[in-house]
Amino acid sequence: MRRVLIVGNWKMNKTASEAVVFVRDLTKTLAPCPSIDLVLAPPFTALEAARTALGTSSHLQLAGQNMFWEDQGAYTGEISARMLCDLGCRHVILGHSERRSLFGDQNEGIRRKVRGALTHGLHPIVCIGETLAERQSGQTDNVLIQQLTGCLAGLPSHDMATISIAYEPVWAIGTGTAATPDQAAAAHAAIRACISTTWSASTADATRILYGGSVTPQNVQSFLQCDQVDGALVGGACLQVDSFARIAAVAESIGAHR
Ligand code: PEP
Repeated sequence: MRRVLIVGNWKMNKTASEAVVFVRDLTKTLAPCPSIDLVLAPPFTALEAARTALGTSSHLQLAGQNMFWEDQGAYTGEISARMLCDLGCRHVILGHSERRSLFGDQNEGIRRKVRGALTHGLHPIVCIGETLAERQSGQTDNVLIQQLTGCLAGLPSHDMATISIAYEPVWAIGTGTAATPDQAAAAHAAIRACISTTWSASTADATRILYGGSVTPQNVQSFLQCDQVDGALVGGACLQVDSFARIAAVAESIGAHR
C-alpha cells in the first residue's frame, strides 16, 4: 500500500531564524502523524537550522528544493545531493515548474539530477504538469507523458520504486484555483498508466503520485479521498503553522485508514 506523503515546499521563504521559530511552533501544534510521511522543504540556507530545531527524534523529514547532478566541483551557486544528505535531507524536489519556467530546467537535466540524487540515496520528488494552454488544447496527457518519460528515461524499476511524482498543473500553482479532484484523479491515472507501460504494473502500483496546486486545509481531503492521489505538495499553505498542521491532520486521518 502506498503511504500518504505530504511535502511542504517553502520556496524562497523564511530565514534560518524564522525556520527555527516555525519548526518549534509546528512541533508543538502538530498531532502525532504515525500513518503518513511528513516532509519540510526549507530553502538551503535554513536546512541546518530546521534540522537542529527538529532534533533527532522528530518524525518530520527534510527535503531540498533542487540540486545539481555533480557531486562537487566548479559549479558556482550550486548544491549537490551529497551536501543535501549531509544536512539530513532524505528527499529532493526536482523539476518544479518554477525551476522550469524561471531557471531553464529541462527534462534532460532533471533526469541527470534524478540519477545524482539516487546515487546518494535521496528520494526524488519529480514535478510534472501542464500549462493552461496545454490543457485547453487537449494536450494534458501528452505533456505529462513527455515530461515523465523525459525525466525518468532508462531508470531501472528498483530505482523507480524510490521516486515520487508530483502532478502540479502550472495553472493551479499559487493561483488559488486548484484542479478539481476529478481532474487530478484523471491526470494521476494517466501518469500511472504510463509508468505501467514503461516499467511495469507493479512499479506503477508502488509509485506515489502527489497532487500539488493551491492545496489548502479545506480542500486537501477531497484530493486524498481519491485512490489515485497519494499525497500533496503544498506551497502557500505550508508557510503557516496552523494551516500546515491542519493539512497534516487531515492526511493522517485518511492515511490511517488506507
Ligand atoms: C508548489 O509550489 O508546488 C505549490 C503547489 O504551490 P501552491 O500550493 O502555493 O499552489
